[in-house]
Amino acid sequence: MSNLKTKTEKKGYFGPYGGQFIPETLRPALLQLEEAYEAFKNSQEFQDKFKWELKEYVGRPTPLYFAANLTKHYKGGKIYLKREDLNHTGAHKINNAIGQILLAQFMKKKRIIAETGAGQHGVATATVAARAGLECVVYMGAEDMERQYPNVQRMRMLGAAVEPVHSGTATLKDATNEALRDWLKNVEHTHYIIGSAVGPYPFPVIVRDFQKIIGEETREQINEKANRLPDYILACVGGGSNAIGIFYPFLSDKNVKLIGVEASGKGIDSGEHSATLSRGAAGVFHGMRTYLLQDSEGQVQLPYSLSAGLDYPGVGPEHSFLKDQQRVDYVYADDRQALDAAKLLTRLEGIIPALESAHALAYLEELMPKTKSDDIIIINLSGRGDKDMNIYSEYLK
Ligand SMILES: *Cc1c(COP(=O)(O)O)cnc(C)c1O
Repeated sequence: MSNLKTKTEKKGYFGPYGGQFIPETLRPALLQLEEAYEAFKNSQEFQDKFKWELKEYVGRPTPLYFAANLTKHYKGGKIYLKREDLNHTGAHKINNAIGQILLAQFMKKKRIIAETGAGQHGVATATVAARAGLECVVYMGAEDMERQYPNVQRMRMLGAAVEPVHSGTATLKDATNEALRDWLKNVEHTHYIIGSAVGPYPFPVIVRDFQKIIGEETREQINEKANRLPDYILACVGGGSNAIGIFYPFLSDKNVKLIGVEASGKGIDSGEHSATLSRGAAGVFHGMRTYLLQDSEGQVQLPYSLSAGLDYPGVGPEHSFLKDQQRVDYVYADDRQALDAAKLLTRLEGIIPALESAHALAYLEELMPKTKSDDIIIINLSGRGDKDMNIYSEYLK
């Protein structure tokens, strides 16, 4: 860790990635956020409140479940699932939303905005805003509103205004553009609860710190169950928050292989995918320097994935750094492989995973034949699949 840590010490950077590439008008808000977060980190009262909320409201710790049937199916190492799908609101997104609403209240903000792809972050934000009694606006691509409609209904039930975004591909990247635009206009009284470990500093650090509870629990739980650390940890990577959340507490454990699975959509060579770390190059996007899908002129290349939560052309800057350091392996799974994996898990374990999480499960096909029976493999099951039932029903036909 010490090695990785020193390299990230240049404030706001992970090696050459991260930073604050923003219009001047946003700088005071980011400074205020940085100060608020410093206070939060150093305040026992806030830390206790955060932990209490995670326990009493979210339902943590989530189980680390031994998937006996899936293990038997692959005939390799032992497979465990970190059950983030069992969190209140159905995904890991609530961990970050809980932390950030505390920051918003600390900064005395009156209005909350968010972007959302699959709708899970929108639902998590609408949930914490309802509880805090704050106005909430969620930007969502019109295309995503269609494919994740149950989450649109949930946000509205929670009292949030869902603003359809029609520009670009009408997906997550466009929703993020709109949210940033709104924040620029209303920054004095509005807090932007960003949904992944992306954006200008300090967002990638804040989101990672609020999500690292996943890895901290996993570490304790596997030590309890197996009396040792795992050999592999797998997580899907969209913006990278569930992945960095489970990876972070293991970064210094060199024997734990960390694998991030991106979405290769219609195939890695089809030109229609979201495999940013596999096929992108460094660029500046949404306020950060990071790997980015771009054409030969440096224009953002349109991403694609059947799963709305992975359909993003950028990635959190810490992942870009971890890729270059070769600490994490970044691989990919396509739409079809993810759908097959979702069906397999459902039929064997009675758990319907989110389509995003199914990408991590899909990589087991490649990984498991290389494992030995006493290996331990942990998969971050980032969310549940209720929101994807339309897509799954189509696939089953
Ligand atoms: C949003 C989402 C993702 C992708 O976001 P990350 O920031 O990469 O974690 C993955 N799984 C689920 C269930 C999601 O809702």
